[in-house]
Amino acid sequence: MRWTRAFIGLNFFYSIALLAALAPASIAVAQTANSAARFAVVLDAAHGGDDTGGRLASGQMEKAATLAFSVRLRSLLAARGMAVITTRESDTAVDPAIRAQIANRSKAEACLSLHATESGSGIHLFTSSLQPSQPARFLPWKTAQSAYVEHSIALAGALNSALLHDGFNVTLSRTALIAVDNMTCPAMAIEIAPLRGPDGKVTAEPDDSDYQARVATTLAAALLEWRLEPRQP
Ligand SMILES: [Zn+2]
Repeated sequence: MRWTRAFIGLNFFYSIALLAALAPASIAVAQTANSAARFAVVLDAAHGGDDTGGRLASGQMEKAATLAFSVRLRSLLAARGMAVITTRESDTAVDPAIRAQIANRSKAEACLSLHATESGSGIHLFTSSLQPSQPARFLPWKTAQSAYVEHSIALAGALNSALLHDGFNVTLSRTALIAVDNMTCPAMAIEIAPLRGPDGKVTAEPDDSDYQARVATTLAAALLEWRLEPRQP
């Protein structure tokens, strides 16, 4: 009886020891599985509220066109199993610092700031002009994007190829970007300009629903590929 109790005691001790040994490993596995399953995209519809953005030829303000595009893209991404976080869902003013904070809390694989313009043509992709820096535990707020800028350029390259493949005219450039420069994720601004024919005449305005749907479909497919692409940590 004593022996049995001792054995049970010992067995119990080993069980605890075994659990203790296994616990950290299984948590790590669970975390890996979780991060592999979760692919989050932040959609930042630029402008809103008092900040109307530019006026489009249709008479609509940029803030409405960016929100419509965000809603359109959100549903396509969600349908492809991505977690989508938006910085606004209505016609409200959102401070650039709040937009960046929402993005940074989301731990997203792609943060897209959405704009619309009447100038130029096709799709304008902008990444931050900050010089790349090493990732660190604490990043200066003003230049936080610098640690992610290489990933951002890679993401812009992937979206650029997909858009070109689908027949869009694309302009890629780097500039100082409000909100994006504070984001700790692969981030960029995507600006929809009018679709123009070979003669330069506008064939679709940036707020044209068919045009927006085509751009959103291409971006959703490109992000799905970006999700599956093996990358350096
Ligand atoms: Zn804008």
